[in-house]
Amino acid sequence: MNKGRGRIFKRSDGAWLVYLPKRVCEDTNFPYENNEIVKVSFEKTSKKLTIELFPQSVICPSCGKQAERQEIKFDGTARYKCSKCGEEFNE
Ligand SMILES: [Zn+2]
Repeated sequence: MNKGRGRIFKRSDGAWLVYLPKRVCEDTNFPYENNEIVKVSFEKTSKKLTIELFPQSVICPSCGKQAERQEIKFDGTARYKCSKCGEEFNE
């Protein structure tokens, strides 16, 4: 089951939370773990909220080899470091 009814709500302390329905999260294809840090973004015209995983590794823009994730930042980017050329970049 990859679809269900959720809810966005604001807690009394000002934090916004997204409720995800149990039947979606317990589907065997659900790609997230409990307490996982995710990238959150929205698109105004389509009115879509997107929740994504941060990749463990990405392609280094300098040398084309694998760069490993070092840190996930509050601005929704992650810092990667290339093991081949040492390049560090945000993505
Ligand atoms: Zn590199």
